[in-house]
Amino acid sequence: MFVLLNNDFVNRNECLIDIEDRANQFGDGVYEVIRIYDGEFFLLEDHLKRLIYSLNEAKINYDIHKHKLADQLQKLVEKNAFQDGGIYLQISRGASPRSHPFPKNTEPTLIAYPIPVSKPAESQEHGIKVILQNDFRWLRCDIKSLNLLGNVMAKQSALDAGAKEAILYRDEEHVTEGSSTNVFIIKDGVIKTHPANNYILNGITRLYIFFLAKQLDLTIKEEVFSVKELKQADEVFISSTTSEVIPVVQIDEDQVNDGKPGPIAKQLLNAFSEHKHIKQIQ
Ligand code: PMP
Repeated sequence: MFVLLNNDFVNRNECLIDIEDRANQFGDGVYEVIRIYDGEFFLLEDHLKRLIYSLNEAKINYDIHKHKLADQLQKLVEKNAFQDGGIYLQISRGASPRSHPFPKNTEPTLIAYPIPVSKPAESQEHGIKVILQNDFRWLRCDIKSLNLLGNVMAKQSALDAGAKEAILYRDEEHVTEGSSTNVFIIKDGVIKTHPANNYILNGITRLYIFFLAKQLDLTIKEEVFSVKELKQADEVFISSTTSEVIPVVQIDEDQVNDGKPGPIAKQLLNAFSEHKHIKQIQ
């Protein structure tokens, strides 16, 4: 497998990263996961836009245009003859003796490589169980940061409870997102999802769902909703680059509606594949 390491393509076993890279000690970096369908990037420009946002917010000085990142990623896909899956990409603040302040004169470290992604067909068809869990993460969830301990712990709690995802809430009035997904509820035909602010990651799939809703003439609102609204919703679904759209049919021990995937989630899922040719949303 070829890995893009800064500006070079190297074999995985030649990809040397310093032990004092700040990704290791501090999780001091940002990342993206970009989907590839049939050898082509899906919504690459939108991912790169979000990457620039994360870099700016984290004050990591990396110019993706100067490094011709889009071209390099294209080459990476070609070199690996990659057809279906994802590209994982991370940029850390770079390697420097361990000390909290931002180091001076340190170049960021970029790595990007292909990862397998299998379509969650079974979950999409039958829906999944989720658990509710307190959102104990930091307050800058809008940055796609390498610091994922809170997310990792939440996901494992879900798996330990025989569920597939943890839906997080700050308090009873405020559901935020999943451990690695955005969350949507539907009541009386209206779709609601958390506003794009510091409490959630503004998912690229979330943005794609806004686009699909428009195509399908569905009403979608960015509004905070409560745990009660979540539990009493007609439909619930989650979204992400690797999950696409997955209906939620059980929350802890409670069924969502009749415990089967709902019609709007299905409609979105069907539309998901139909519009995959679109190049950019924002
Ligand atoms: N929220 C969180 C916390 C995530 O980790 C992810 C996926 N990485 C998402 C939402 C969904 O984002 P996207 O649609 O861009 O994959």
